Amino acid sequence: MAKINMKTPLVEMDGDEMTRILWELVKEELIKPFVDLKTEYYDLSVQNRDKTNDAVTSEAGQAIRRHGVGVKCATITITEARKKEYALKNILPSPNATIRAILDGTVFRKPINVNRIKPAISSWKHPIVIGRHAYGDIYKNTEMTIDSPGKVEIVFTGKDGKERRALIADMKGRGVVQGIHNYDDSIHSFARSCFRYALDEKLPVIFAAKDTISQTYDARFREIFNNVYETEYKNEFAAKKIDYQYTLIDDAVARVVKSEGGFLWACKNYDGDVMSDMVASAAGSLAMMTSALVSPEGYWEYEAAHGTVQRHYYRYIKGERPSTNPTALIFAWAGALEKRAALDDIEPLEKYARSLRNITLRTIESGVMTSDLASLAGCDSVDSWRFIETIAEGLAAAA
Ligand code: NAP
Ligand code: MG
Repeated sequence: MAKINMKTPLVEMDGDEMTRILWELVKEELIKPFVDLKTEYYDLSVQNRDKTNDAVTSEAGQAIRRHGVGVKCATITITEARKKEYALKNILPSPNATIRAILDGTVFRKPINVNRIKPAISSWKHPIVIGRHAYGDIYKNTEMTIDSPGKVEIVFTGKDGKERRALIADMKGRGVVQGIHNYDDSIHSFARSCFRYALDEKLPVIFAAKDTISQTYDARFREIFNNVYETEYKNEFAAKKIDYQYTLIDDAVARVVKSEGGFLWACKNYDGDVMSDMVASAAGSLAMMTSALVSPEGYWEYEAAHGTVQRHYYRYIKGERPSTNPTALIFAWAGALEKRAALDDIEPLEKYARSLRNITLRTIESGVMTSDLASLAGCDSVDSWRFIETIAEGLAAAA
């Protein structure tokens, strides 16, 4: 059987631990037998990041800017403990943060629905995608404890030395204060990434904040979203019969819980942090969550939302065959190949990517699944190798 040809390489970023083992397996068993796979390979393993003083991570980010589409394995975020464990020279920044800074992207997380795994919220029929703003607010805050009575103010000092002041509180006694910020540019990028993703996926968008209480800060987010939508996206949205709505965050939560799903929920940084975990666990399992980084300029990076599954890896190196779920990794590859196919106009590749996804889902629905899902579906589990083999058999039969 002839393999499907590619025109432009995918930027492939290899990673660590259990996901690195599964990465190789997915490529060898599920992709290479069917696709003449072209990738530009970057080894983001903790050892190679350390060896190159993290140059490899920046190079990979730049490569995505060059080629447009990347696929990334989970990587260890280095801590003091990991530095010791792997005998590393340095504690380097998280690769995801480095790549996000290069692409100026927004992270979209989408649960993978399977019929056998019922969401905890019974009305949800379609996935709810969370688009999380990845800059600022409390994640870049300055905090202080106050030990005695006194005035707390915000002071802005311009380049010309002029000051603007606003009273936060006339503190009567001990307490705490916090200062946060964001940039118009960052909010613009966030809004554009959300609208672009929604158009690509043909999903309506809701954005929510608390502008009744925060009439300057949150109101700025609302204004920027409205402006970007009205001036840049409204017509394209109308053509695809989707829309954009702003609502208050508490109203949004109530509506999301009662909804059927099938929309993009754009969230401020903190809301996105909290709500993506709520959506993931209510939808089923962390191992069934995909993640895509989308830049406003139209660069795409696909990955699984979960980490390197360290505990399973320790069992693997002792000689066990763990039942780690590779579904989100498979979906990351399928997403990247499908995007590459759409950009390069390669219909057979688009078809293959869709069938890779469908056959993975059908495999789970037929009762062949890893232990995280088997415990929810109430059936027996297989190890990762048998799970991937079953998908490979399905692909071969469909080819
Ligand atoms: P994790 O790798 O997501 O795993 C946490 C637990 O969730 C696992 O022990 C396992 O539970 C379950 N799980 C996650 N993915 C699974 C899968 N595919 N199949 C089956 N079960 C799965 O998080 P972590 O252990 O906190 O982090 C490990 C490393 O990953 C850290 O070094 C962290 O820095 C890194 N990390 C990287 C990324 C990324 O690259 N995007 C994201 C998050 C974390 P049981 O053990 O109970 O089976
Ligand atoms: Mg979180």
